[in-house]
Order: sequence, then C-alpha cells, then structure tokens
Amino acid sequence: MNRMEVTAAVIWRGDRFLICQRPRDKYCALLWEFPGGKIEPGETAEECVIRECREELGVTLRVHGMIYDTVQEHPDRVVHIRFFAAEIASGELTPLEHNAVAWVTQAETAGYEFCPADAKLLRENALRRPSRCGGTPRKPWVVSECLAGAPCRYDGGSNLVPEIRAMVDRGEAVAVCPETLGGLPTPRVPSERRGDGRVVSRAGDDVTEAFAAGAERAMALCRAAGCVGAVLKARSPSCGRGVIYDGNFTGRLVPGNGVFAQLLLDAGIPVMTEEAFGRGTEARPGEEPKPTEEA
Ligand code: SF4
Repeated sequence: MNRMEVTAAVIWRGDRFLICQRPRDKYCALLWEFPGGKIEPGETAEECVIRECREELGVTLRVHGMIYDTVQEHPDRVVHIRFFAAEIASGELTPLEHNAVAWVTQAETAGYEFCPADAKLLRENALRRPSRCGGTPRKPWVVSECLAGAPCRYDGGSNLVPEIRAMVDRGEAVAVCPETLGGLPTPRVPSERRGDGRVVSRAGDDVTEAFAAGAERAMALCRAAGCVGAVLKARSPSCGRGVIYDGNFTGRLVPGNGVFAQLLLDAGIPVMTEEAFGRGTEARPGEEPKPTEEA
C-alpha cells in the first residue's frame, strides 16, 4: 500500500497556537489542520515542516522538537504524520494556500472541525508547549514503529506491543522505521546484516546504502525530538540490539546490533529490545536510562 511521510507544525504564540482551514478544492475541504505537508526525497522531517510553513504561510519557523507521531490508515494509503512544536522566528504570517487561519487556545478548538490526525492529537491531549515557549520540558524515547503497531514489517505486518503504542499516543515516545525511512518498500524481501557490517537481502541484493540512509534519517528525528532512550525490535538488521541473525538466512543468531541500534549506541543513547522492556529488567521510560553494554 502507498505510504506517505508527512509533517505538521503546532506553532505557538503565548498560550495560543495556529490552526489553518483547508481550501475548498482540496481533500478534507474546509476542515481545520496544523500546517505542514509531505516530506520530499532527501529532506529530514524538520526541514520539511520548515519548508512547508514557508510555502504555505510565508514564515520561517524555529522548531523545538517532535511532540506527537501517528499513523492514519486510509483505504488507498497509509499516512505517517509527525507533529513538531514550533514558533515563528521571522516573517509575517500570510496565508498563501489556506482558506483561513486562527490563533486559538486548546479549549477553543471545540468550535472547529479538524482533519482526522489533527483531531486525534487534540483528543489525546498531546499538545505540548515547548519549555522555551513556557511549556513543560520532556524527554521522549524512540521506539521501533512496528512495535507501535504500524504495518511496516518486511511482510507488511506489525509487531504491536500495546504498552509501546500507548507511549506513542501519550507523546512519550516517537516511532520510526529506519527501513521505510531509507526508501525501502513494504512488503520487501527480508535482509540480514553480515559480520562485515554489510546488509544483504535474501535475494542477494546489497541494501547497505538504504539501511544506512534510513538509520541516519531516523537518528535525525531522534535528535530533533531530544530522545533519551530507545525500545527497538529484537534481532532486526536495523533495530536489533545485542544479537542479530548472522547474514546467511539460516536462523542462526550471533552477537551484534542492527544499523540504527548501533547509531543510537554510538551516540550514547541506551537501547533495549521489546523483550527486555516486557521483562522490566532495564530502566523504563520516565526513569533515567542506564548506559548499556553492547556486543
Ligand atoms: S526497521 Fe525496525 S521499525 Fe522498521 S519494521 Fe524493521 S524492526 Fe520494525
């Protein structure tokens, strides 16, 4: 199924934030939304939300970090939307594409009809004013998107862990899938990471470059959100920590880390698998994560 990566900005001014009414002739006509749009190839989510707001509103944003992350399933596509808290750094607000704009408080949003993902953010009370705008500082974790229930696994399935989905819904974690961020399709031929670091698909294709690019993009999202810990899918060539499959598709496990897990560990961000998360044997979100020893 077609998958779109999209960003949106919650732009704060004091205790109010900006909402925009979609044009009459577009999808979700006249519903209200947070401004943003589709991530272009080679662009990070943060770069995307800045570009979109420049194009739609004529302003340059100061982005404070990711606050909410959700997946909307439509009959013909899956849309992954990341919301960022932001302020206007420069420029005069000029609606260039929307029908109307309004600065509102959260209570006032009850008088507006929103697009589904934006309504979900408001319903789940996930608005978080960044500390530099007078809000509460937060330390989110990053989680594998398939653990949050997204159908991004190589066979089109997910590895839903309801407690991890709930963390994402509460805005305590951001969900990323390094392989789809690297441009790989879903479903896709499964891959394994070899001892020399290369990643090879079961069909024999070298997909190292796509895995590395996706891991870098996922890392950029973690930095933007200020993530302090990770819960990732065990044994994955991207997300696995401690042990992964040996690269020969025999089912044999060897010591090692997935490409994205290794980047996090190199950056000093502790990583646990969903299995350790389920056992409660390591520090959990909300606790200070402890450094992990890696294979
Ligand atoms: S790359 Fe990570 S998040 Fe994506 S499907 Fe694989 S294990 Fe899940």
